[in-house]
Amino acid sequence: MMKKFLLLLFVSATALAQTPTVKYKLGMPQPWTHLLEVEVSYAGLPRSAETFDLLLPVWRSGRYVIFDFAGDVQEFSSQNGSGSALAWEKTDKTTWRVQKGSSTTVVANYKVYANEINQRTKEMDDQGAFVDGSAVFMYADKYRNVPLTLEVKPYGDWHVTTGLENAKGSKNTFTSPTYDYFIDCPLFVGNQLDINFDAGGKPHVLSIMGEGNCDTGKMVRDITKLVEANKKFWGSLPYERYVFMLQVSSQHGGGTEHINSTAMGTRPWGFVNPNSYNGFLGLVSHEYFHTWNVKQIRPKGISPYDWTKENYTKELWVAEGTTSYYTSRMMIRAGLSTSSRYIDQLPGQIQGDRQKPGNSIQSTAESSFDAWIKYWKGKEQSYNAEADYYDRGSDLSLFLDLEIRHRSKNKASLDEVMKAMYNRFPWNGSGYTVDDFRKICDEFAGSSLKQFFDDHVYGTKPLEWEKVFLYSGLEAKPRDEQRAWFGAAVRGDQPRIRNLAAGSPAYHAGLDIGDEIIAMNGYRISANDFTTRIGEMKAGDVVKITVMRSDKLREFSVTLVNNPVPGYTVTKISDPSSLQKAIYESWTMTTWDGEKRNGR
Ligand SMILES: [Zn+2]
Repeated sequence: MMKKFLLLLFVSATALAQTPTVKYKLGMPQPWTHLLEVEVSYAGLPRSAETFDLLLPVWRSGRYVIFDFAGDVQEFSSQNGSGSALAWEKTDKTTWRVQKGSSTTVVANYKVYANEINQRTKEMDDQGAFVDGSAVFMYADKYRNVPLTLEVKPYGDWHVTTGLENAKGSKNTFTSPTYDYFIDCPLFVGNQLDINFDAGGKPHVLSIMGEGNCDTGKMVRDITKLVEANKKFWGSLPYERYVFMLQVSSQHGGGTEHINSTAMGTRPWGFVNPNSYNGFLGLVSHEYFHTWNVKQIRPKGISPYDWTKENYTKELWVAEGTTSYYTSRMMIRAGLSTSSRYIDQLPGQIQGDRQKPGNSIQSTAESSFDAWIKYWKGKEQSYNAEADYYDRGSDLSLFLDLEIRHRSKNKASLDEVMKAMYNRFPWNGSGYTVDDFRKICDEFAGSSLKQFFDDHVYGTKPLEWEKVFLYSGLEAKPRDEQRAWFGAAVRGDQPRIRNLAAGSPAYHAGLDIGDEIIAMNGYRISANDFTTRIGEMKAGDVVKITVMRSDKLREFSVTLVNNPVPGYTVTKISDPSSLQKAIYESWTMTTWDGEKRNGR
């Protein structure tokens, strides 16, 4: 017993002696050059190790694609504690090996060219900087779990906004318990407007970089409602302070979730128009729901993150798709959207699912796994060959929700599944698999959903929308009128063919993605007019399309057919059972007669 104690004492003393002091410095003396200046130092390293490897991640969390950030590193140099140069060499695309010899300190300096607009990685100009640490800060793998500090030297009168905690008494020095936490707290450095507010009993910041027609008072009120609705749903807020980072410019859009912040981008003049403002709140709702679903509840394949290569996971349809499903549900709970608005978009959801050829080719699990080489590569064939794990994952979440409500006689729903996931899969655990998720669904449904997962997660069997909607007393029916089908989206100021649907008339007639539309039936036409005119035609009509392909003028005849996937209506049945009615009311958060109520 005593011996063991002494041994433990010895081991922990050795571990302490070998825990280096890790410090980062970030400078930006000429921001218009896009060059960030970085210093990283490790002091207190063991004398014995001859070499010391510094790595830069090849990807960032939330975007499952290889970026190879090392490609923007320049002017790397390394020194020991007294400033004498240490030799170094690259050993692979993202590893710098320093010959430290017997030195106990390694200091590395380098610059990073930061001009990846709207990738939410690294960007800086004379208006300010956005820094996701994975794109900028190197690390030593062995010491990823060692606490560290970051000292920022902002340019001019700029200031720093981040989810990192300030070091005591210092405005521009921050601390982090680990490297992974550090790079999960992006930074704004600039003249961003910071609005501090309390929500759900904790401090929050809305930080806006850029200018537009923002009504910040309204934004804060609405974001507060989302925070409170999520707190009520999950039971608690898993952070001490949270930062909503917003880049406002015509070059920015979309968002990325982080451990205690989110980085979002939106157009400057979309804050007044109700539809585009609703889109902005949808972005906030989506990113904020991720605070739990993917930042706390993590798929096994990304637990912990491996920064050196692809992190394969079949669960992105839960991480992203289920988050997409809850985006509007949390807005309804927060009083920022209505159930009727949600129900109104259901017909489009059925049609979108059935019209997309990729849904019958790639399974949802496969779409998640191959995100690295397909989804995030934005391939032109993706509409025909891929199931989008966001959209399809959202569809599957809706199905699971209604299936669980139906099987449990409305005693449980996907809400209980997500809360159980949050309790059983803490962020620092080993993560969950599709099977883990299914077992919790089984538990709340009261019977096995294995067949559903085999058919629709691992398989590509078509979704039976009519069947699940009926669980809630809703009837999905094809519209009576037939609609003519061309089969390609035409977009752009100089209209071009996009999303050419496999099997469609345009596809069979020989049109190709990228064809530039010169004329329809001999007349010049805009993208909008093209779509409108096709909508006014009927099956059997022949459309002559003149296109420029490469350098050659070509003409094609496209004979329209009736769209094999009709439009739908979704309406309430006239004589619901008490279970159908109960499911409808709890699922849509209204009464059967249409009044708002608190959903479960
Ligand atoms: Zn997302």
